Amino acid sequence: MTASNGVTGWGECDADNPPLMAAFVEHSLKKHILGEDPWDSARLWDAMFFGNHDHGPGGALANSIAGVDIALWDLKGKLLGVPAFQLLGGRFRDRIRAYGSFGVGFGKKVTVEQAAEQARRFVRQGFTAVKLRMQIRENRQNPDPDPTFAYAAAVRSAIGPKIDFFIDANNGYSAGRGIEVVRRLKEEFDIVLIEEPVSDQTHQETAEVIRAVDTPVIAGEKEYTRWQQRELITLGNPDYLNPDTIKAGGLTEMKRIAAIADAFGKPIICHNTRPTLGTAAALHFIASIPNCGPMMEYIDLENFPELRRLMKPPLRFEGGFLCVPEGPGLGVEVDEDAIRKAAKA
Ligand SMILES: [Mg+2]
Repeated sequence: MTASNGVTGWGECDADNPPLMAAFVEHSLKKHILGEDPWDSARLWDAMFFGNHDHGPGGALANSIAGVDIALWDLKGKLLGVPAFQLLGGRFRDRIRAYGSFGVGFGKKVTVEQAAEQARRFVRQGFTAVKLRMQIRENRQNPDPDPTFAYAAAVRSAIGPKIDFFIDANNGYSAGRGIEVVRRLKEEFDIVLIEEPVSDQTHQETAEVIRAVDTPVIAGEKEYTRWQQRELITLGNPDYLNPDTIKAGGLTEMKRIAAIADAFGKPIICHNTRPTLGTAAALHFIASIPNCGPMMEYIDLENFPELRRLMKPPLRFEGGFLCVPEGPGLGVEVDEDAIRKAAKA
């Protein structure tokens, strides 16, 4: 978005369905933003959210608001010439350990051998933690046989014993089966976390798993508002929360989620699968909260060469850590020509 003095702010929405995001921004959000004062970003967030609450609260509404809200924070920082984290309350840290994350589509997209190779590549790039996403529930619940164990064995063997390793079951199990699986994964492959072992629709099942296993549980990537996160915390009580800056309403709502999480003693390990403005925004958020978990999600940039050219300067990833950008706003400039080329590709 561009202010009346010509300064531009950029944001990013969740990218699973770009035409849907564009339609939400065009038809539902734009009318609440055009001609308004960007310094009123909290009021504008309310206008976008409550002006469209028949189409939310989560999913596409929160995802699309995230992009507009992040653009407002980028704009405010660029108008003042200060990094977004300074407007969010300042810095608790200037870098964060990143874990390498990849999905195998229940074994339909990536073979066991390819999974092992991807895990090795993360280690070569300097990652000290790796997450395997099994994407079970979108295929079936409680699979039998369960491909998770063959993938876990291959990845653990590829990365060796010293790299932190964990698994995202993507809602894969009922509570009873989930408890069995988590115990076995801990025993055989020394996982340090388990993500979404059970459905995100029934938080009581999350609580059941947490009461039964020693492995910390992380959940919250599909709880997109402070109210949904409150339900997850009070009913499911996960050890860590993983909201996503480009899904959960942007920086404005993420700060509110962080405050609720802090009040319940829950650290945040950001969900983050886009190496572009979403990662830059997540880094400003992480810099500005006290209850940041020990790491955040990141991906293998080598798999997305076209995305590396969209922003200048590129985000710094060094020795397994992502560095918080220092420049005004999100700390990056967008190359519009590169974006147009990537959109056509
Ligand atoms: Mg996940």
